[in-house]
This record gives sequence, structure tokens and C-alpha cells, in this order.
Amino acid sequence: MRLRVPRCLIDARLQDLPPADDEGLVTVQLQLEAGVVRRLQAAPAEAGAAAPLAITPPVDAHAHLDKTFSHGDFPNPGGTMAGALAANRLEFAARTAEQVQQRSERALQQAWRHGLRAIRSHIDSGAGPASEASWEVLSDQQRAWGGRVALQLVALVPIHHWLTPEGETLARRVAGSGGLLGGVLGPPFGHGLQDAGAVRALLQLAERLGCGVDLHVDEGDDAPGVGMALMARETLALRPGVPITCSHASSMGLLSAPAGERLAEQCARAGLRVVALPRTNLWLLGRRAEQTPWLRAQAPIRMLQRAGVEVAVAGDNVQDPWYPGGDYDPIDLVRLCFTTSHLNPGQRQGLTPFTTAAARIMDLSWDGVLRPGCPADLLVLAAGSWAEVLARPPARRVMRSGTWLEPLPESPFAGALPRVTCHE
Ligand SMILES: [Zn+2]
Repeated sequence: MRLRVPRCLIDARLQDLPPADDEGLVTVQLQLEAGVVRRLQAAPAEAGAAAPLAITPPVDAHAHLDKTFSHGDFPNPGGTMAGALAANRLEFAARTAEQVQQRSERALQQAWRHGLRAIRSHIDSGAGPASEASWEVLSDQQRAWGGRVALQLVALVPIHHWLTPEGETLARRVAGSGGLLGGVLGPPFGHGLQDAGAVRALLQLAERLGCGVDLHVDEGDDAPGVGMALMARETLALRPGVPITCSHASSMGLLSAPAGERLAEQCARAGLRVVALPRTNLWLLGRRAEQTPWLRAQAPIRMLQRAGVEVAVAGDNVQDPWYPGGDYDPIDLVRLCFTTSHLNPGQRQGLTPFTTAAARIMDLSWDGVLRPGCPADLLVLAAGSWAEVLARPPARRVMRSGTWLEPLPESPFAGALPRVTCHE
């Protein structure tokens, strides 16, 4: 099978490959056997021109499968944070297990067919029957989808909940099932000592139970970087032995360059991982009545990467009160971030947030790098270059364990499916 593959998704130790072109791509020939890659070598020169662009299946490290596709019944026409929270509360009060089943099944089917191989979903876990129902359904989905879309679950509660006896009980259950402890850390912020105490208690609890933490931090456009600074400080002080992830980190992007760089270096020293969520941020933040937004709060992805922080970019909300669009399509997100976040997928730092860095943040067993013995899992695009991917949404084919999935219906916008040259 001849494909054009980003060099950063091929094992750096594999030599005898041609140099990457201007978009970081090399044309290779893959030999597959029994669901794994057997050999990977340079393709004969004459075959290179027509080969389609392929990547390993991307990873979505931040989603909300419990509330997804609820936008129709619980819209947020003003597009504000306050409106989203109010609609989310109404939706949560009415949420049933059947709804979570239907929503999550639709989401996982879309994700699978679009080429995603793993999703980390936060679950509203405050008081009320919807919390219990959501955990039961999504734990079942985790088992049902194992081997197709790896699903990780995070308990999303107000951060002070972890200080209560109910919080401790919830944490034990979550940790016992391999989940993560989550929550929201400003803005707005409580008194500094209150928030610091809650963060410290959460980190100690996670350390004691041996489970990871993934918080929504600084999802706002004021108090720039306050939550990230707090996370870095407390993590450096406690040095927990479990992975700590900060999702959003949006307002950090509003700091001055020197202040942002200092904080990014602190985050790197603390070993914090960051999941940037530009799509929801660009939708909700910086919104002012009757104004075109001029404050564009999103995580300073490149600055964090330069400091040595592992950064993923994820989809976050899909068709819920927080964002009305999206469809679990990682290529759609790559195309968006090309423009909004200047993440050029032709460069290593532009592509790894969707692939290898996201896999490391989720601690997946495969990093998404092609090498002999790795899964024969591929997302093949009807495009020969990243410029073509930017030009129009490309049709795609998805291979898992050496078998092609049923292709998505051809879109009139996407054109024909990619043509893959295979030899028996
Ligand atoms: Zn979220």
C-alpha cells in the first residue's frame, strides 16, 4: 500500500526513507499482515505522485458524551457562557439514561467512522439521578467500544466537592473503575486560599487513590492564567505521582509574552499536560453584545510546546448548549486550527496535538507512530497534500486492524474517496 505519511508519524529510527517534502510528508510503502504493519519502506519513485495522504487515527482527549447532541432541545441562542451553563443545568435536570445511551452511541459511531481511535469524556457528576445514569451508561459504552474507540471517563464536579464526604465516595468509585477526577477551576475564582486548598486536597486525593486528574482551568477571558499558575504552584509543591491535565488554559493566551513564557516554563517543570479546546473557546469567549470579538482567548499552544509541555487539541463540545456544531471529525478540527491557531499540520508541532501528544496525554498503549509491529490503523484522505486538505473537506477511508471500515457516504463537497494502490 503506497501512502504519503507525515515523517513525524513514522519511527525516527527507521532509516533509508527519502527526506520529507515541504509539508513534512514522505511516500512510503506499507506491508500489512494479520492486522499489523509488517514492513515500512520507501516507495519506488515512480509510484509516489498519486499516493494519498494518510495519518494514524487521531485521538480526542476532551469531549462531553453525556450532553452531546442536546443542542436542539436546549439551545443557547446568545452563545454566552452564562447561557450555556443555564441550558446545561436544565438539560441535566431532565437527562435520562436512554438519552445518554442514544447520544453517546451516535457520537461513538461518528467518531469511529471519522477515524478517531480514543476519546476522553467528562461526565457531569454533581447531585441528581442524571449523574448516576450517565456513569452507568458510559461505563457500559466503555466496555462495548473497547478495541474500537478507547473511552476514558472523568468526573466533572465543582472542585470544592472533592473536599466533602460525598466527593470522597465518588472519587473512590471513579478511581476504582479507572476513571479520572475532574472539575472546574475558575473563572470566577474564590478566595485564593479557598481555591488553593481545594486544588491541594484534590491532588492529595488523586495521589492517594492512584488516579489521574483532568480539570477545566481558566475557561474565560478575564483573570488571565490565574488557574494555571495555581495548578503549577500546587503541583510543584506536592509533586503527585499521577498525571495532571489542565483542559482549556484559555485565558493564559491573554498574558503578555514574558508572563506567558514564565508560566509555561512553570507548567513544564510541574509536568502539567494541557488539552487546548480552541473551537469552544472561540465560540463562547470574547463575546460582547453587538461587537465583533477582539479578545480571542485560547491556550498559547506553541508557547507551551516550546517550554516542553505536552499539548493536545481536542473537540470539546459537540452540538450541545456550549457549542452548536461539530461532529466528532478530527480532520474538521485540524482544518479549523490551521486557521484559528496557526497549527500547520505539515509541521511536527502542528500535527502531534491531534495524534501522538494526545495519545501520550491519555496514556494510550500505542503512541500513534508507524513502525513494524504497530496496528494497521490508518486514516487515508482523498488529498495528496495538506494544502488540499485546507482547500476542501476531503473524503476519507478508515482502516482498523488491516480492514477497511464501511466508507462514510460521499459528500458532494468532499468528492471521490481516496484511491489506495494495493498489491497482494
Ligand atoms: Zn469540557
